[in-house]
Order: sequence, then structure tokens, then C-alpha cells
Amino acid sequence: MTPKPNPRNTPINAPFWEGCNAGRLMLQRCTAADCERYVYYPRACCPHCGGGDLDWVEASGKGHVASWTLVHRPHHAGFGRETPYVFLAVTLAEGPLMYSRLAGTPPRDLVGRSVRAVFVEHGPDRKMPFFEIDDG
Ligand SMILES: [Zn+2]
Repeated sequence: MTPKPNPRNTPINAPFWEGCNAGRLMLQRCTAADCERYVYYPRACCPHCGGGDLDWVEASGKGHVASWTLVHRPHHAGFGRETPYVFLAVTLAEGPLMYSRLAGTPPRDLVGRSVRAVFVEHGPDRKMPFFEIDDG
């Protein structure tokens, strides 16, 4: 059985992964007064204004599905026993687009559906943010 690959840990992304392991979706937010936009994926500088001062804040975990596809042949053999699965593009309530997976069985039509983050075991000491349909 091929093990799943893991994301690379860096000082920049550490708060994101620590948040996932604690069941919290963390995003960076630019501190520049004329920007204050949310940033995902974790970076050293704001992609909107170029500012270098980004705080970490807990996101709502909510968003809606912008696009999706059903994966039958995964990009890595470690995910082979999990196919088929739904790969999602989620527009977070805070603005950034996040690629992820759907937890659970996919309904027929996903675009525009409300979702919320859930944190799924990926391997030792590692949880991944997935999304589930949020009908509530
Ligand atoms: Zn900025």
C-alpha cells in the first residue's frame, strides 16, 4: 500500500496546519488598512497589495462550491483506495478560493451549494480540511 503524500511543513504554513489539527480553519489576513483582505494559501506577502504583514485569523469554515469534479484516477497512488471522490473548488465566505475534497457521498449537483469545513484524518498528526454540504 502506497502511503499518501504529506504537505511540506514550513514556518509560513505552520499556523494553517496547526489549526486543521485543532479543527479550525485558519486564514491569513493582510493588516494594511487599505487592504485587509484574506489570503489563502499561506504566503509571506499579501498577493493583493504586496504588503508583508499578515495576521492569522480563524475563518468561518463556510463557503460555497464554485466547481467540482469526480476523481476516478487519483494523481497519487496513495489515494487509490479512496476513489471515486469529489474534488472541490470552494469560494470561502471570506473570499479566497480553496481546493479541497467533499466529505461524504456527493449529491448530483454541487455548484452553488453551501458547504462547511470538516477536518479529516490524513495520517499521523495530520488532518486535512475537507468540506461537507451545509444545509443548516
Ligand atoms: Zn494586502
